[in-house]
Amino acid sequence: MANLTVAKFGGTSVANHDAMLRCANIIKNDLSNRIVVVSASAGVTNHLVRLGQADVPADERNDVIESIRVIQYAIAEALENQAELKQTIDGKLTELATLASNQFDQFTAKNSDEILSFGEQLSSLLFTQVLRSVGVNTTCFDVRTVMKTNSLYGKAVVDIDALKQQTVNELVPQLNDNVVVTQGFIGQDGLGHTTTLGRGGSDYSAALLAEAVDATNLSIWTDVVGIFTTDPRITDQARAIPEISFGEAAEMATFGAKILHPATLIPAMRQNIPVFVGSSKEPESGGTLIQQSVASSPTYRSIALRREQTLVTVKSPAMLHASGFLAKVFAILAKHELSVDLITTSEISVALTFDNPTGSTQSLINNEVVKELEQLCEVSVEHGLSLVAVIGNNLHATKGLGTHVFDKINDFNIRMICHGASSNNLCFLVPEQDANTIVEQLHDTLFAA
Ligand code: ASP
Ligand code: MG
Repeated sequence: MANLTVAKFGGTSVANHDAMLRCANIIKNDLSNRIVVVSASAGVTNHLVRLGQADVPADERNDVIESIRVIQYAIAEALENQAELKQTIDGKLTELATLASNQFDQFTAKNSDEILSFGEQLSSLLFTQVLRSVGVNTTCFDVRTVMKTNSLYGKAVVDIDALKQQTVNELVPQLNDNVVVTQGFIGQDGLGHTTTLGRGGSDYSAALLAEAVDATNLSIWTDVVGIFTTDPRITDQARAIPEISFGEAAEMATFGAKILHPATLIPAMRQNIPVFVGSSKEPESGGTLIQQSVASSPTYRSIALRREQTLVTVKSPAMLHASGFLAKVFAILAKHELSVDLITTSEISVALTFDNPTGSTQSLINNEVVKELEQLCEVSVEHGLSLVAVIGNNLHATKGLGTHVFDKINDFNIRMICHGASSNNLCFLVPEQDANTIVEQLHDTLFAA
């Protein structure tokens, strides 16, 4: 299809009416934007995560629902048909209250996902109205019609073939007359139950839809003007990167830069769809274009930082000259759907890192996993660590990494190092409290202005 862009707006971009209006104008000014994927309005998913928990007493449930109502009403109030919209919001929130009270009576992960889906349901409904209010023909499409997943609630896996087929049948015909607004983050399993793709999953939803409709572009609109050399909150020396390759950006997304959901680039890479990342607050400031081939490939492109890492060290004398130990360890991790980020091994021990963010809806290292691993070996679990990833090109074949990188952070303890598996990154774990200083110092030397 000629010039079909899938545009995704994140939580801050649809946080309130002013923000939504800016997004609506982005769409209106470039009608190649034909599919719009929205996140929940900022803050709403966090409220819903609380509602989805097992132990929320009735008055707290009411307070949380009222907080959501305030956010969504404020958007409705800026629109012409506010009375009707408020009624729709009320209807949704009544449904939500019932689900939350069921959750209190009997917790299920399935119910939790149903609860989480209300953020995107509400924001898509409201954004459709905002887009209409600027004169764009718009239809609101329930993504669950096409985003078919397995039943792994909280971190469901999308059936790419079913998505493709359903999209061609159900969504594409709608594009003839309308801009289609739909939800990120949510899907539906084979039993017709709502699922979610994991926190921050709307980017990934947008990329999957872009792949399914064979889009020419994917635009991820957020609250920063693209991908930076590092988190600008850590150092004011950080600067936006105009162009970056898929390979580098994928490492960045995986290892910290919170801008994109880590899986986002996979569908884009499969289908070679360039991905633009920009700020809906200042679209005129440009952003970062992520694509297959780029004009320059510097040795050092950026530094990513990811906090709240868990390091698990498993140690077994039985591993000495033995085979199959790692397979057993990984079988346990796979059973618990745990995904390992970094790994280093010595003769009788293996160290593994896991992303363990607060508020995550996915499985984490818990007592059950530790107990199972302990059947096999000694296990130690450390928290309070951050992962620093130096991203660039040809790093595995670059001389002077010691001088460029480690000399500058000589005063700090490096808990673990991973290098050589990817030409695009060099990663290490450091104590949480040193992380900012380390990144700042590294940035000063690697990206001196
Ligand atoms: N609303 C969901 C979240 O906050 C998904 C997203 O924003 O991408 O995690
Ligand atoms: Mg996001």
